[in-house]
Amino acid sequence: MSSTYHVRGIVLRRETWRDAARMYTVYTREAGKLLAVGRGTRKVLSKLGPHLEPYGLVDLHVARGRRTETLCGAIMVRPPDPLASDDRRYLAAAFTAEMIDHFVKTGDPDPELWRLIEAWFADLASVPRERVDARLSAFVWRFMARLGYRPKLDACSECGRPIRFGEARFLPVPGTASCGACVLDERALVGCETLTQRSVEAICRTLDGAAPAPSSVEGAAFASALSFMEARLDRPLSSLPLVRAMMKAESYA
Ligand SMILES: [Zn+2]
Repeated sequence: MSSTYHVRGIVLRRETWRDAARMYTVYTREAGKLLAVGRGTRKVLSKLGPHLEPYGLVDLHVARGRRTETLCGAIMVRPPDPLASDDRRYLAAAFTAEMIDHFVKTGDPDPELWRLIEAWFADLASVPRERVDARLSAFVWRFMARLGYRPKLDACSECGRPIRFGEARFLPVPGTASCGACVLDERALVGCETLTQRSVEAICRTLDGAAPAPSSVEGAAFASALSFMEARLDRPLSSLPLVRAMMKAESYA
């Protein structure tokens, strides 16, 4: 077994690590989620540090260690600069990086998940600003679905009738929906969002892998994605309240 190897990944997070070093969390194509120390990366003249900015796409040369992996080389393939160009985009990047780090365990490569994550960060860098929310909403649904968390939106959870006409209520905790005719107790309605038929169909199409709706996303559909994800967290995400505040600030038609 070679003592070093190469991977391509998205930098999710960096933290101070001992003297001049940082610990990087990277989601990689070859090795899944990887933690590696970048020595000297906090020094002003570090050669490695500038290639390891959060949310960039990087090629890494990694040395195996008994306790921790160490970075021997890094080349920035796609700098995260466009993400920093506006705060909405940057917040979407920070939020999804935190979400990925939370749900994905170290190791365990998954080519399908890699494609999803890599495409999301590439897309986020170029998508028009007014479409960021729609893409973010779609990414959250797909990411959760890839991890095995899929909402059931085809039939009412109470009466079993297909949800086809009128409005549906999405229940984020069980991840189910109920029709407007069924009566639910208050406990079941915690965090409930009322979805139009159009929203339900859009979410189902997203889960089937269709391109997200070209223009805007309904606020309730976006809120449903966030609440569905939040109900499956082990601990709170610090960026989630910021994303919700951003949603509120935007006027949804
Ligand atoms: Zn029903």
